Amino acid sequence: MPQRLAILGSTGSIGKQTLDICRVYPELFTVEVLTAGSNADLLINQALEFNPNMVVIGNEDAYESVSEALRKTDIKVFCGGKSIAEAAGNSEVDTVVLAMVGISGLEPAISALKAGKKLALANKEVLVVAGELVTRLSIEHNAPIIPIDSEHSAIMQCLQGESSTSIEKLILTASGGPFRGFNAPQLQNVTLQQALDHPVWSMGNKITIDSATLMNKGFEVIEARWLFNIAADRIDILVHPQSIIHSMVQFVDGSIKAQLSKPDMRLPILYALTWPQRLKAPFQTGGLSDIASLTFEKADTSAFRHLAMAYESIKIGGGAPCVLNAANEIAVDLFLQEKISFPGMQNMVNKALERLAHTKALSIQELLLLDAETRTFCKSLNNI
Ligand code: NDP
Ligand code: MG
Repeated sequence: MPQRLAILGSTGSIGKQTLDICRVYPELFTVEVLTAGSNADLLINQALEFNPNMVVIGNEDAYESVSEALRKTDIKVFCGGKSIAEAAGNSEVDTVVLAMVGISGLEPAISALKAGKKLALANKEVLVVAGELVTRLSIEHNAPIIPIDSEHSAIMQCLQGESSTSIEKLILTASGGPFRGFNAPQLQNVTLQQALDHPVWSMGNKITIDSATLMNKGFEVIEARWLFNIAADRIDILVHPQSIIHSMVQFVDGSIKAQLSKPDMRLPILYALTWPQRLKAPFQTGGLSDIASLTFEKADTSAFRHLAMAYESIKIGGGAPCVLNAANEIAVDLFLQEKISFPGMQNMVNKALERLAHTKALSIQELLLLDAETRTFCKSLNNI
């Protein structure tokens, strides 16, 4: 039986690469659900090619055009965030690939886990905002969360056959982004174009900016904390500009295991779909003979304060990581619109944490309220 997929965020970078794999292996994967935010044209084209049961467009204004374009097919068309969350629990689906951005993926993740689906998770912000609740649901409903994020996929691969008591620490690698080696004064005047020019990965805009500030790496520490149930002070970061080692695990006997490959997100996507098995990659992966050297540097948390704030927020616990994420979403959005500067993003997140972070454990409803409160607070800040 082929694995039946729901791809949430199919019009984005991870979504499209997931469909690349489905295109090559139609006997192994069928596409049952596709969802997008606003890109109606691409969603329609994907629907006509993959013939899913259902598509959902988040933006309600685009419903008419999607519905009209698919009128002569059997494909059901829905719109809005609630419908995306419902689609994640669809009974025709085995695996939900969650490739939306930010907190928008939280309710779909909950719906997928409650319905006992395998969750192939790219949308790391879900674990940043609600890691404790989401991992608890995964256990209660016997619904595995398999990371697509390359670092976490690497760690998961290193941990196969190992006992959790053998782990000394996790070592997340980081490319360092476009501003590797910059000090705080040099970061003052960097531009949006420079920040969008990632040296290794081609990704959606939000994660590209998060990679430039190193917020992405901070989020990945929180993601790893919940995925692998390990304290954040046992998760180290090592800057590795070549991005060949995707992460490592150090064991209690001093041994270190690493997963290496050329940087290509289709590889961790494929692993998430086929785990615990491996499948022949339908694309060129290449060897390492043309790699001259692998180098490592310490991460600079004084210039890249986002990283320090992520560690601080996980230490505070409770609603702090939710505040961290919401403030960062607003800050990145304003930076993408060139309304605040690069250091302005850091100031905004810092102010939000000072004002709103607290230790109280929260329900999903309370987290959503805290998210909204943080957004309002950030939008009210002037001269940031
Ligand atoms: P993109 O911006 O390229 O794609 C995001 C997708 O989600 C699009 O399909 C978009 O729809 C949809 N979407 C965004 N907001 C909403 C919303 N409010 N409601 C419904 N749909 C929405 O992002 P990426 O693919 O780069 O990243 C996706 C996630 O994966 C992020 O959390 C990122 O951190 C993570 N990730 C990405 C990696 C990468 O290589 N790209 C690597 C590791 C992790 P539309 O475009 O139609 O509006
Ligand atoms: Mg990553």
